Amino acid sequence: VAVTDPILEVADVEKHFGGITALDNATFDVDPGITGLIGPNGAGKSTMFDCITGFLQPDGGSVRFRGEDVTAERPPSVADRGLVRTFQIPRELPEMTVRENLALAPKGQSGERLVTAWTRGGDYFDDERDAQAGAVEMAERLEIDHLLDAPAGDLSGGQRKLLELARALLTEPDLVLLDEPLAGVNPTLENKILDHIQRLESEGYSFLFIEHDIDVIMEYCQEVIVMHQGAVLTAGDPQAVRSDERVIEAYLGG
Ligand code: ADP
Ligand code: MG
Repeated sequence: VAVTDPILEVADVEKHFGGITALDNATFDVDPGITGLIGPNGAGKSTMFDCITGFLQPDGGSVRFRGEDVTAERPPSVADRGLVRTFQIPRELPEMTVRENLALAPKGQSGERLVTAWTRGGDYFDDERDAQAGAVEMAERLEIDHLLDAPAGDLSGGQRKLLELARALLTEPDLVLLDEPLAGVNPTLENKILDHIQRLESEGYSFLFIEHDIDVIMEYCQEVIVMHQGAVLTAGDPQAVRSDERVIEAYLGG
């Protein structure tokens, strides 16, 4: 696969909930780097993340990741290929510490690694030690290591988002889908999260992230995809998209 090839290709994806059409033949490509996904509430953004990562089965269309069809795969297989998502509402285990949440992450999200831990028997404890070391290292990378022994339920909104990001990164992904990583986050931590994303991108990770603030999109994203009523309204350079009349109308029209 050449560097210029898209990392993710979504083609004609459809999803219905009873009589509601959440996704209506949505089509777009994502190149390596940082891509923004915007659109009014109810546009289908979170449902799209569910369909891409196997949490929901689309009713039609296809999802290809690094050239391979992943449409029918469940989240653990998709994660093993290097494609993971975070949730709009973080899903950490609140009673457990940050350290415990992080030590669980690689095995919890990735079916392949869990199978490896079981089948390798005697190596299990090496894996466990690796998980502990990995948890500490990732916490340091995202500057939440001072929180390692705090119950996850005690974290602020922004700290929980960083824990989600850390958990996602522990699966060793190529592309991370972030569902509103800045929602409910104070401005100081918001800038930190954005700095982390930018630094991680320079280390080789790619991101597709849902964000409402167009100024953030303009500053951090190489491309932006605009969804409206379950379909892709337009996509491309943030500068061009921002001045697109259909985009302005979709937002003003609600
Ligand atoms: P966004 O993330 O862009 O705000 P969503 O993907 O959450 O939008 O929702 C798209 C549409 O699908 C909305 O009309 C929403 O009410 C509907 N929807 C999403 N999930 C479900 C569900 N599990 N059951 C029924 N309707 C749903
Ligand atoms: Mg959403």
